Amino acid sequence: MVKAPKDLQPEDWRRERAEALLRARLVVVKVGSAVLADAHGLSDSVLHSLAAQLARLALAPSDGAFSGPEGAGPRRRIVLVSSGAVAAGRALLAGLGRAPECTGLAARQAAAAVGQGRLMQAWDKAFLAHGMPTAQVLLTRDDLRSRQRFLNARNTFAELLHWGVLPVVNENDTVSVSELKFGDNDCLASLLVNLIGADLFVNLTSAPGVLAADPRQEPAAPVMECVHDVASLDLGRLCGGKTSVGTGGMYSKLLAARRAAQIGVPTLVLPGREPDILSRAFASAACGTWVRPCAQPIPRRKFWLAYQSDPAGSVHVDEGAARALLRDGASLLPGGVRLVEGIFQEGALLRVLHKGQSLGVGLSNYSAAALKKIAGLKRHEVAAILGDAHYPEVIHRDNLLLDAAV
Ligand code: GLU
Repeated sequence: MVKAPKDLQPEDWRRERAEALLRARLVVVKVGSAVLADAHGLSDSVLHSLAAQLARLALAPSDGAFSGPEGAGPRRRIVLVSSGAVAAGRALLAGLGRAPECTGLAARQAAAAVGQGRLMQAWDKAFLAHGMPTAQVLLTRDDLRSRQRFLNARNTFAELLHWGVLPVVNENDTVSVSELKFGDNDCLASLLVNLIGADLFVNLTSAPGVLAADPRQEPAAPVMECVHDVASLDLGRLCGGKTSVGTGGMYSKLLAARRAAQIGVPTLVLPGREPDILSRAFASAACGTWVRPCAQPIPRRKFWLAYQSDPAGSVHVDEGAARALLRDGASLLPGGVRLVEGIFQEGALLRVLHKGQSLGVGLSNYSAAALKKIAGLKRHEVAAILGDAHYPEVIHRDNLLLDAAV
């Protein structure tokens, strides 16, 4: 269970939460398949209820003061990240008596292609009933890796939001191969928080919130009202030791919340199927889990470089290098590298490990082949192999994010 910092009174985070919800102007709301769909496919009543609540939030003034023309006042802008394409596709085919084998990447991609249109149609209808037009945005991780495409996407979101259109985002499943995948929509949503510069992240899930223990071990585990320091949570213990690779569930929700926290954005994890849940949460009712933002946000560039792709390999470092990175904010030098894993090129994102623990991620100045030649060597020894025109650092500290949520 998380302990609150000693100087923090319980009412402090309640006030922080109430103010952040009131002031939020640009919100990423993510809703999972388990909220939107059941065995029969998308639930119209859930979609309509969520659309009605989101429309109310979008149209409500975000700082309590009406100031715009005709008293319309400032509005909350919302970007919705919606799963449910695969579930909708499967259900449709099953309803037609064609129940395809829906395991494996290609089958999931094909089911998503069948279901995405239906998902979008359902959202469009539900929001139009409240006068809100929607726009479909399908992204792959690769779209955010290239700076140019990242900026293109950002400009498109800005324009849509300026027009009062609600973007409905999903992963472009049909073309996403495993190394280009976000893995899950929690990851996609956390990267969008950075892309659009959101000030709040709301994650609607089938759970009542973040539980204080793994429910398979402790069925009566209570919901944590507030997570003060998400980086200090032992996710393995709390979420049943799942890996970070596209498993979904609370593990990936907390990983996503941790990323948002790193850029100073709080996350509210809410039970998406409870009636009027968004309206109640924004009216300060105690529900779900509030994940507090970090007091010292990381630079946006570091966020981008750390999460634009999955690490392509790992470097294991020795005691001295680990200390220099953690304590002195130093760069990683060849001499501190003990072991290199993976096949990668210069510029690849690497995990930095010490005694099996992740210290962070960073961009490598060397390919795996070159790094294997110089691991453990001093500068003059490296020069003897690579010549004088080589990088002194394996990973420069400007290209290193310690404590990364990967
Ligand atoms: N893109 C998938 C879908 O629409 C969902 C992925 C996820 O839920 O994380 O079905």
